[in-house]
Amino acid sequence: MATSITLLINLPAIASEPGKLPAQMQLTRIAADKWRADYSFSEAISRFSMPAAGDYRSTAWKPLTSGVRYQAEPSAQPDQQKDSYILDQPARQLSFQITSYNGFAPKNYAPNNRFSDGGAGIYMGFFDGDVQEGGKTRAMNLTVSYQGLSGETVIPPPAFADAERSLRAYAYFGPQKPAPAGAARLVLDPATPEWLAKLVLDTTSTMSAYFSSTYQRPLLPELVLMISVTDTSTAGFSMKGGATNGQITFRLSGKAMLNEHPAIRQLVQKLVSHEMAHIWQENVNQGGIGEAPAWIHEGGAEAMAVDALQKTGTWTAAEASNYQQTAIANCKKVADQTDNYQYAYACGLQKFMALDSDIPLLWRKLITETEKTGRNYDESMLNEVSKHLHSS
Ligand SMILES: [Zn+2]
Repeated sequence: MATSITLLINLPAIASEPGKLPAQMQLTRIAADKWRADYSFSEAISRFSMPAAGDYRSTAWKPLTSGVRYQAEPSAQPDQQKDSYILDQPARQLSFQITSYNGFAPKNYAPNNRFSDGGAGIYMGFFDGDVQEGGKTRAMNLTVSYQGLSGETVIPPPAFADAERSLRAYAYFGPQKPAPAGAARLVLDPATPEWLAKLVLDTTSTMSAYFSSTYQRPLLPELVLMISVTDTSTAGFSMKGGATNGQITFRLSGKAMLNEHPAIRQLVQKLVSHEMAHIWQENVNQGGIGEAPAWIHEGGAEAMAVDALQKTGTWTAAEASNYQQTAIANCKKVADQTDNYQYAYACGLQKFMALDSDIPLLWRKLITETEKTGRNYDESMLNEVSKHLHSS
């Protein structure tokens, strides 16, 4: 029996915004390294465009519908570049074959996280786009269903009321059954070295329990962590990934992970805790992280992570203090480069330390404020909340 799970279960029906074209897509895994995406639009379309994603579409996507051609649409502004599929004849159906892809899309999510046991995480944000219909360009209101190979596990992205938000996450296809880890579930690549697997499981359990009780809000969707191992042969250790809507994904690589090492232990603990902080920052129905300078959510996540690591005894007070002092030193080096990513983390942490506030209390109030008003986190909200805390 093939496993099939449909997204948007148990959610109230949402009327699509005017102008958005209702569309469905089924993503079916048809072989170890192949998927099929079958789109069905509520009206015939003549062009389907998606924001560009490096060479992902030109190399890994093949239209299966006849009379469809691919066209890259360059633009001077990187966020305006598009990948388009042009139909000879307007049609309501459009199918693609998608093969496994190892590359990265510039400044974006990895399209395909591959696990050593054949499992795969597919980033669903790359399946959404605009259509052209009767000369008009319209956004889509896309809902997706998933079908895996016979007997395999399929974990769709977390369901949010906003269908578009639901797509900005990964769908997992593969043999693993997710393991419970505190308030989260964990899909762990079997190639993860034993000490590291235990560390990730323990850290995830401890941190998700701490965040759940400290930030006093149950998670809107269930948190799923996916850890894939890309290789254990290259030099050093690298951990790439991050938090998306309701999910944390990491890709591990490098032979240094084969042996237990305190620096790797600290890095993994900090990254898991940091990404989990973003999950709670975004655990809102409106507001959350927006266009404000990155130091607010990154420095905030650093501060929440250090607090959680220390309060749970995962780190000693000395380890936490060392980490903070290193951040202060790193911030000095980039203090005049506000667009440097180090600035957001190191100087961001320093700015939160300088507020001299209880971090859980501060972030509980920020989360409440963003949820209540729909305003994204920004510097003025931070100043207001911090001032209020000091005066009360
Ligand atoms: Zn972050």
